[in-house]
Amino acid sequence: MNIFVLNSGSSSIKYQLFRWPNERPACSGLVERIGSGQATITHKVFDLQAPDAPPREQHRTLVLPDHEAGLHEVVRLLSGGIIASPAEIDVVGHRVVHGGESFTAATRIDAAVKAEIKRLFGLAPLHNPANYLGIEVAERVFPQARQVAVFDTAFHQTLPEYAFRYALPTALYTEQRIRKYGFHGTSHQYVAARAAAHLGQPDARLITIHLGNGCSMAAVRGGRSLDTSMGFSPLAGLVMGTRSGDLDPSVLLHLLGPLGYTPEQVGTLLNKESGMMGLTGSNDMRDISAALAAGDARAALAYDLYAYRIRQYIGAYAAVLNGLDAIVFTAGVGENDALVRTRVCQHMEFLGLQLDEAKNQARTPGLRDLSGPASRARILVIPTDEELEIARQCAELLA
Ligand code: AMP
Repeated sequence: MNIFVLNSGSSSIKYQLFRWPNERPACSGLVERIGSGQATITHKVFDLQAPDAPPREQHRTLVLPDHEAGLHEVVRLLSGGIIASPAEIDVVGHRVVHGGESFTAATRIDAAVKAEIKRLFGLAPLHNPANYLGIEVAERVFPQARQVAVFDTAFHQTLPEYAFRYALPTALYTEQRIRKYGFHGTSHQYVAARAAAHLGQPDARLITIHLGNGCSMAAVRGGRSLDTSMGFSPLAGLVMGTRSGDLDPSVLLHLLGPLGYTPEQVGTLLNKESGMMGLTGSNDMRDISAALAAGDARAALAYDLYAYRIRQYIGAYAAVLNGLDAIVFTAGVGENDALVRTRVCQHMEFLGLQLDEAKNQARTPGLRDLSGPASRARILVIPTDEELEIARQCAELLA
């Protein structure tokens, strides 16, 4: 079965093709700057017989007026040896950011599902329209394939009501659906399942820590999400690359009132100009750790603030879980930035966490256990793989 996993953004398409049940992709790629005369495609083909061999890569710059043109270009690249024609794609697995309260698992896409994804545009104006466009384009380019939606919110639909409700007047929930939804669910679900399997403990109490450009944490037990740090939108919780994370809502009122910001300006400030970007001028941890090493005081404060917020959530989620079996670091920063892990794990002996600093500094690929001999709870690094998780969920749904 050929499963094509598609992540359609406002001006980009990310994709991977799986020859299921092989869990390694046969190829992957990224189309960027769609809608411009300077669009780029990076296409990688992997040798499934030689997993360690480097992929064959192609780069092109071209004119791509829209997503449909982009996907046709991808099909042209796939047709150069991977598949003979688009008809060979059996399943398209779409990443969809917001599934509201309607979708708790991967779902076969039909007219009603599309209508519901469209209805949710208001809750996810930055993401769902682009995801929806990807579905419509894929339906035209792969008309014979089964289309499946995998939602970022679905994994967190198991939160108890006292965890997902805000203490606002009830009608704002019942009529306007204002509540915590949580995001990055596919990543939390994937690393939590791998951690539980690694520990041989299906009921393990886990805190999963996804630190990429967006950052979120989840408290997971028995494969169920019990709480998560993002909320009504992906703006809540941890300090992120360019997003503020938690703040007192009165700050918004102060910006909108006395300081004269428009709602659009506040949105831009909180989503694009805050977080590590706001604190240091860069959203990339590699720049910030270089600045820190050079003695930059802003970088030092930013690292402290970033790690402090994660530590606060670890404390909170250990309480939610009534104990802790493992914490799991994942995504760009979580997998690569040893200093963040050191800062997060400092003074956490009361939770049974003891980091082995030599293991923390070692750069070995794959799942890593960084716990020291005295650690009662494990400290794991697990590379996330949202595309593989989407492919798995498609295969399970259609089995
Ligand atoms: P993601 O959203 O998971 O792709 O993560 C992207 C972020 O990971 C980048 O913005 C960087 O801040 C961070 N990152 C990537 N590689 C490294 C690295 N080697 N060391 C520290 N941070 C990294």
